[in-house]
Amino acid sequence: MSKLFSFSSHRHQRRWFYPLLSIMVMLSLWVGSPQPSQAVPWFDLLRRGVQVIQLSNVSDKQEVQIGSQINQQLVSRQVRLYRNREINDYVNQIGQRLAKNSSRPDIPYTFQVVNDRGINAFATMGGFVYVNAGLLKAADNEAQLASVIAHEIGHITSRHAVEQMRETAIAGGVATLAGLDRNRAVAIGVDLALRRPGSRKDELEADQEGLEMIRRAGYAQSAIVAFMEKLLKGGSPPTFLSTHPATSDRITALKSKINPQNAYVGDGLDSAAYKAKIRALG
Ligand SMILES: [Zn+2]
Repeated sequence: MSKLFSFSSHRHQRRWFYPLLSIMVMLSLWVGSPQPSQAVPWFDLLRRGVQVIQLSNVSDKQEVQIGSQINQQLVSRQVRLYRNREINDYVNQIGQRLAKNSSRPDIPYTFQVVNDRGINAFATMGGFVYVNAGLLKAADNEAQLASVIAHEIGHITSRHAVEQMRETAIAGGVATLAGLDRNRAVAIGVDLALRRPGSRKDELEADQEGLEMIRRAGYAQSAIVAFMEKLLKGGSPPTFLSTHPATSDRITALKSKINPQNAYVGDGLDSAAYKAKIRALG
């Protein structure tokens, strides 16, 4: 996805950008449309009772609410969940252990298994993480699975989906003066979760966040690199890597942050124990 605006790294840019955008929109409306009802689209939105999101300032509470609506749409229409109590409890337990050790432990997290053989995982805003059954089977051990879940939590702690939503809405011209119609926000969120790869910068950031989580949660850090290298070697790259650019760069960046002396120290390397835990997958 090409970036039309760079909001992410320069916080100070946002302060002037939104007021400026507002003024530009107001001017163009004032010059262009003489009819008052058309001149103020947000008035129409408010009149129709549509909930509007201030894109420049999404609170944690709002993010969790929008994430929850996106999740509703995903699980009711777009993905089929794998409904097995044992497997779900296991993935949730790993996820909660990592989330507790993340830089954003104060929002609720929900971990779900998708009934899909493709090797993939994804996340949306507000604490919702999805792992395919195919990825569970591809991992050699719990630490490898944890490394992918930690990466997805990393996207949430860095609020990547909120930023992508903001960029998509503005680039598509659907954000109005007052913000974004909530239903449209949810539709964009569903599309982002399923179809849009992260930027190179987002992926590297999620990797670093993930590595830190793995370390703090007490898992063996070597598993992150081991799993990526395994997937790269396995013929055609799986969805998880093909939608995540520059895998070799990611491996290099991760290796530079891992001290080889304690790379293999930590939990989750027992392959037999892991296979027993996911036996229900068949
Ligand atoms: Zn990612």
